[in-house]
Amino acid sequence: MKIKGMKKLEKRINRIVKKIDETVKVELAGSDACYPYKKKIFFSILRDYESEKKFMDNLHVTYNDAPHLPIFLYVLLHEIGHINTYEKAYKEEDDNMRQNIMVKGDEKAYFNLPTEKAATAWAVDYVKRNPKKAKNIADEITYAMEKFLAKNITE
Ligand SMILES: [Zn+2]
Repeated sequence: MKIKGMKKLEKRINRIVKKIDETVKVELAGSDACYPYKKKIFFSILRDYESEKKFMDNLHVTYNDAPHLPIFLYVLLHEIGHINTYEKAYKEEDDNMRQNIMVKGDEKAYFNLPTEKAATAWAVDYVKRNPKKAKNIADEITYAMEKFLAKNITE
């Protein structure tokens, strides 16, 4: 199977992310991730609804005043949040902590890792400080994703 419209989506997402942070680069991938020191984000085109729901549920439970906006926006902002908070948050974390949590599959503990918590806090703070811009960006991302998904959905 060939995935259509990847280049275009990547361009669109990069253009959108530049409005949040000019120095961040996005590459499409199979899972969401981030190289904080390279200012590079990997944005997944494979959606995993179960883990997305857990991420969003945690976000809204932790921040009950966080605006209800699409997951795509929060995922991107969370990854940009890693870039902006990593250095400080990582001092409170060690790799064993992360590994133990991953092995156990403890989601709650994962979301509470200093770097994860800081990235989500940054995302929520961004949305609260820039409500209008966040809404516009969310619409642009949704549009780009819908265009992309429509090209690739075959009955
Ligand atoms: Zn993260």
